[in-house]
Amino acid sequence: MKESVLRSYARLAVRKGINVQKGQGVQIFAPAEQYEFARMCAKEAYLAGAAWVMMEWSDQEISKYGYQYQTAEQLSVMEDWRKAKYDYLARELPCRLHISAEDPDGMRGTDQAKISQVRRALYPFLEPYQKAIDNRHQWCIVGVPGVKWAKKVFPQLNKQAAVNALWEAILASARVGEDPEKAWNEHNAALAGRCERLNALQLESIHITSELGTDLTVGLMEKGTWMGGGEYTEQGVFYNPNIPTEEIFTTPKAGAAEGIAVASKPLSYQGQMIENFSMTFKDGRVVSHTAEVGDGILGELLASDEGAARLGEAAIVPVSSPIYRSGLLFYNTLYDENAACHLAIGRGFDNTVRDYSRYTYEQLTDMGVNRSMIHIDFMIGTAGTHISGMGRDGETVLFENGEWVI
Ligand code: ZN
Repeated sequence: MKESVLRSYARLAVRKGINVQKGQGVQIFAPAEQYEFARMCAKEAYLAGAAWVMMEWSDQEISKYGYQYQTAEQLSVMEDWRKAKYDYLARELPCRLHISAEDPDGMRGTDQAKISQVRRALYPFLEPYQKAIDNRHQWCIVGVPGVKWAKKVFPQLNKQAAVNALWEAILASARVGEDPEKAWNEHNAALAGRCERLNALQLESIHITSELGTDLTVGLMEKGTWMGGGEYTEQGVFYNPNIPTEEIFTTPKAGAAEGIAVASKPLSYQGQMIENFSMTFKDGRVVSHTAEVGDGILGELLASDEGAARLGEAAIVPVSSPIYRSGLLFYNTLYDENAACHLAIGRGFDNTVRDYSRYTYEQLTDMGVNRSMIHIDFMIGTAGTHISGMGRDGETVLFENGEWVI
């Protein structure tokens, strides 16, 4: 890929993604293999006025060794120096840029029960940190093709050709053309307009069906809103958390989902695959699930904690989205969630509640924002998806044959 194009992608991630403010710190999370693109992002961050850039390098193989060679107890230790680092980050509120490039199968064979156990052990330390930074800093996820990821998406191509093909797909979905910043301004405006029309309906629930068998009613919060595109931090800084993004989403009311959700695409979760699966909801909870591949992993995820079997997100994406039309399965949620309507099990988003910053965490929970240590998207949308909304004015058809109708 041409360096000038990559540079313009890095600039987009920094200017439109995290939107670094003068004097702000920046944390960049990057796989060690992707140092060239990470380096471009660091430079762009300084050019945008960052006071400092902190690199958080990772390597999937080394992470895997941790689970292979360390005990769950060893992995669950939160050292004082790490606590001090989290305290510092919660005070400084740096932007956080995540570069996603991982191999969808990279964690295959890792003991999911051990991963869940470690996550549960660390959660009491991480939750207060998460609460302290949520909605108070800009963050963004962008993708860069790792070799193994590219080979998974394009198995018929050789390594270099696969990486090039995945670059093409990533840059097209991220609207990196002549003037990416202008393209994002227009895209954000279009998504904001759709949210406005949807919010005006003041929906109480939505009913989703598809030819695969999805037949699900999802209750919505009284003060809930639909969001899409960029968001504002509490300090009023506009940023784009996902590049690309095509979805309009909301946080369902915890405890109010009835029916069955049938997945329309495989789910690649932290290097492990879950395929051909469905979940049945009663009183907002998953009461049964089946999966042809990865049923055990799905079960572990649903049992992560009290809120893991409840919904934390409902999102609408038309089949005319560039990612759906590409026909590719990316095996990466950042892309696949923008190809189709989806739901997420686990944690909901506080900022989908109107004027959320006026309420306490407990009040938001009472209003129906689900709480969990997990948030996992899974796709249910197809070209046969229908969605109607129930509100004060009765029923409104929102979405027919995979396309918006409002
Ligand atoms: Zn989503």
